Amino acid sequence: MNIQNYINGEFVNPIKNNWLDNYNPSIGEVYGQIPNSTKEDVENAYLAAAKAFSSWSNTTLEERSNILSKIAHLILEKLDVLAAAESKDNGKPISLAKQVDIPRAASNFQFFANAITQFSSESHESIGLNAVNFTLRQPIGVVGCISPWNLPLYLFTWKIAPAIAAGNCVVAKPSEITPMTAYLLGEICNEAGLPEGVLNIVHGLGSTTGQAIVAHPNIKAISFTGGTKTGAHIAKVAAPMFKKLSLELGGKNPNIIFADCNYDKMLETTVRSSFANQGQICLCGSRILVEEKIYEKFKKDFIKKVSELKVGNPSDNSTNIGAIVSAEHLEKVKSYIDIAEQEGGRILFGGNKVIIKNCENGYYLQPTIIEVTNNRCRLNQEEIFGPVVTLMSFKTDKEALTLANDTKYGLSATLWTNNLNRTMQFSKQLQTGIIWVNTWMLRDLRTPFGGQKDSGVGREGGFEALRFFTEPKNICIQYESPS
Ligand code: NAD
Repeated sequence: MNIQNYINGEFVNPIKNNWLDNYNPSIGEVYGQIPNSTKEDVENAYLAAAKAFSSWSNTTLEERSNILSKIAHLILEKLDVLAAAESKDNGKPISLAKQVDIPRAASNFQFFANAITQFSSESHESIGLNAVNFTLRQPIGVVGCISPWNLPLYLFTWKIAPAIAAGNCVVAKPSEITPMTAYLLGEICNEAGLPEGVLNIVHGLGSTTGQAIVAHPNIKAISFTGGTKTGAHIAKVAAPMFKKLSLELGGKNPNIIFADCNYDKMLETTVRSSFANQGQICLCGSRILVEEKIYEKFKKDFIKKVSELKVGNPSDNSTNIGAIVSAEHLEKVKSYIDIAEQEGGRILFGGNKVIIKNCENGYYLQPTIIEVTNNRCRLNQEEIFGPVVTLMSFKTDKEALTLANDTKYGLSATLWTNNLNRTMQFSKQLQTGIIWVNTWMLRDLRTPFGGQKDSGVGREGGFEALRFFTEPKNICIQYESPS
């Protein structure tokens, strides 16, 4: 199936008529073409967005909220079609797309449909000076949203929904590796009555299409989720133009397990936090640190549970682990397994590619557990972003904390303990943007979401996202005293 750019409410071919292949990773075959857009396409998208801005930014909150709600409802109505498209494009199990990706995309719109009606600004009375200050929060104008391939519609809408709720018009680019559900979103927006030009979706490579969005002088803010290296590049391009930037980047998250935790819940959750979406979630706990007292028991139980996971065709409802997103990414993930021994690691389970019947050319890999003894090894320092976790033991709280923080990343951490004092000490000292205690991936969309250190700059979610997508302006009015 071929897809087109969505500009000014219409589906159009790329101006230069260049196309890229789109792969189905579950069978390793091309199943369609996507626009290989150039800066001319981005310019058209920008012009449509700029034209729509004055009217969209003046719609009432009720109108905007109703349209966002309608989009949310239509996403849910088309859940099966969208989930099937996401699974085919990305390789993720259909069950995951149905339970997580698509419902969350709908929630993103519904959440910001509600949040915009509650978003308020501050006012300050300067007593004795006869003055009142208040803050106007106005939409920025045309903004750029660029998203990755791991949670395609989920993360694409996580940016678009607050941007348009706040009154901006958007030029958006999904990952060229997983463009399909973004394409389908265009149709949904038209059906929901989103005015033309408010959202424009341009497909293509990061180095050309993405670069053109970031480098566009009149696209004043960029919300980006993707790799740390790309984020650094984007920051460099955007800085001289003083663009507002929100960068949600990579992670190397610790999963810290103490002997006093609820063991069964921890074990079950740790299987999920290690391998959900083939380990391709920025929040996966890829470094499992286990208190020495229970290390051997955990190792045995974890290997057993992981060995029960079914690697298979993503469209099969019983599949736990689907295909890796691309041949290139499979090779990257495998290359880390290949250096495990030379990095001082020992493969405890997995490590091999898997051949699935009737999907022989698909990109499948066993869930892989590697035991390491040195946190400075590449397996513990570099983001692998696949179904590969490392195990390491620790003796004391201090050692666990040091190991957890000993990485350039700082996105999330998971802590398993029933000790309140330890919970508070770790919560204060872990250098991450998100900490889950006795759970994982429990999301409340009101919370600030983002990372510290090389995991990013800024926060999304809740009012943080609405603040990002608005420009605060201070108005100071002095009035006269009664004569
Ligand atoms: P990526 O950085 O390669 O690409 C992300 C997006 O940026 C894609 O749409 C791509 O086309 C575009 N892009 C690439 N080069 C660009 C450029 N020069 N200018 C503008 N856009 C450009 O990342 P990926 O491989 O698609 O995604 C995986 C990464 O995303 C992992 O590092 C993962 O941790 C990270 N991620 C982070 C979060 C988070 O919330 N922190 C969430 C999901 C994924």
